[in-house]
Amino acid sequence: MTKALDTSHLWMPFTANRQFKEKPRLMVSAAGMYYTTDDGRKILDGTAGLWCVNAGHCHPKIVEAVQKQVAVMDFAPTFQMGHPKAFEAAAALAEIAPDGMNRVFFCNDGSEGVDTALKIALAYHRARGNAGRTRLVGRERAYHGVGFGGIAVGGIAANRKQFGPGLAATDHIRHPLNLEKNAYSRGLPVNGAEMADELEQRLLALHDPSSVAAVILEPLQGSTGVIVPPAGYLEKIRAICDRHGILLIFDEVITAFGRLGTAFGADYFKVKPDMIVCAKGLTNATVPMGAVIVKQAIHDTLMEAAPADSIEFFHGYTYSGHPVAAAAAIATLEVYKEEQLFERAAAISPYFEDAAHSLKGLPLVKDIRNLGLVCGIELEGISGKPGARAYDLFNQAFWDKGLLIRTTADVVALSPPLIINKAQIDQMFSSIADLLKSIK
Ligand code: PMP
Repeated sequence: MTKALDTSHLWMPFTANRQFKEKPRLMVSAAGMYYTTDDGRKILDGTAGLWCVNAGHCHPKIVEAVQKQVAVMDFAPTFQMGHPKAFEAAAALAEIAPDGMNRVFFCNDGSEGVDTALKIALAYHRARGNAGRTRLVGRERAYHGVGFGGIAVGGIAANRKQFGPGLAATDHIRHPLNLEKNAYSRGLPVNGAEMADELEQRLLALHDPSSVAAVILEPLQGSTGVIVPPAGYLEKIRAICDRHGILLIFDEVITAFGRLGTAFGADYFKVKPDMIVCAKGLTNATVPMGAVIVKQAIHDTLMEAAPADSIEFFHGYTYSGHPVAAAAAIATLEVYKEEQLFERAAAISPYFEDAAHSLKGLPLVKDIRNLGLVCGIELEGISGKPGARAYDLFNQAFWDKGLLIRTTADVVALSPPLIINKAQIDQMFSSIADLLKSIK
């Protein structure tokens, strides 16, 4: 340990700060699949940081691109002027996006991406003369970041309850998780596509459908416990949105960039949204960056509605398309391509799935859910103490097994970098098995 840690200034996000202070977990370096802690221990990264370091830590090509760019030009605005890297990064992203999704709006993270996409949806309807379309629809247990838009369409009460009423005119449909019918499914659960009908039957009956601007959802809900959509569910949502002129936004902050073995979740599920929000793996998390990828027609509607000399969309961030982030994104997208990391993730997923399901039958395991390189292990909780058991497991994994996992309520979530090999998969799941067997 180096000098004693002064914890009196940093206010840590989403952290029980006083609890952290008792036993700080500090990482000081990272490479490939591993972190190194301040006391020199190697930690296998079972979660790609926060679902973001898809190409593995400190990838030399990405590091070099960032170092080079920061020395050449640290910053340039993209308001009324620009720099080549932002255009190049947008083109590289459009190239791997689903057909017709050609326009890219840059921001700095997932939360800003969600707010940006919601604003594009509202502006789009206005541009078409439908200013009455203001209602936004999300789902229960959805995580869409922490902006006011994101917490409104998100389905997590805890993220809202300290902040009062927030954004009005949002509504939620239920998530499609069904433990009774679908526990231990592999691939897409077969039951539950009809949950999508709730959008039309309940919600649109409650509100005039022509008051709804957009539906936003994570094609696979990640950070709230890995909820895999039932077969046919997303297709139904798409069809309902189409029937009622409602835009469909996929929040792919987790599912983009190979997590499911494809560039985007939209490719995996073969359902095309009107907008995709992405962040995290866009720069391999080296430098913060988010993006909204928009169907060309939506962009064109906003262009055509505005006089030639006016700003078509009143929105943007100082760091939209930041040169260093753009350089990181260009290098990251090249790495994914050159090293065929999406294909690699697809190829190793069946092994990952078998390893995950080998935990079935161990004490306290209630369900195992997985797709691509993401998996959730739902545990029997302790009554009156939601999440406490999984949090204990997280701590034990870190201290006793040198393994980084994530927990959310009583679900252990795993989402390793796409470069993980079979031996590391074995290590991850055998460590968790040992811990589960030792739970008293
Ligand atoms: N959307 C989803 C689906 C996410 O998982 C996250 C972050 N985990 C966000 C949005 C917010 O992203 P950020 O933390 O970069 O703002």
